[in-house]
Amino acid sequence: MKQQKPTHPPKTNDPVKYHCHDSCNACGGVNEINVTASCGGHMEEAKTKCKTCGHEDYWAHGFFEGSEEVESKCRTYSFT
Ligand SMILES: [Zn+2]
Repeated sequence: MKQQKPTHPPKTNDPVKYHCHDSCNACGGVNEINVTASCGGHMEEAKTKCKTCGHEDYWAHGFFEGSEEVESKCRTYSFT
């Protein structure tokens, strides 16, 4: 079988996964959101608190800062 190779292969097969700010990073529950920075109606940074487990985190430009310490359980999205 002949496989066609792309002329310009992507650098990585994994698209960047951004974190959903309304999804708890610790348990995947629903977050309360307290927007701290926005630009033109577009949220840039926010404090989050989970309604289910109480986990507090800080979301900025697509990512939870708490992800450096815990394994992310939040929903993610990517542009593909
Ligand atoms: Zn939670």
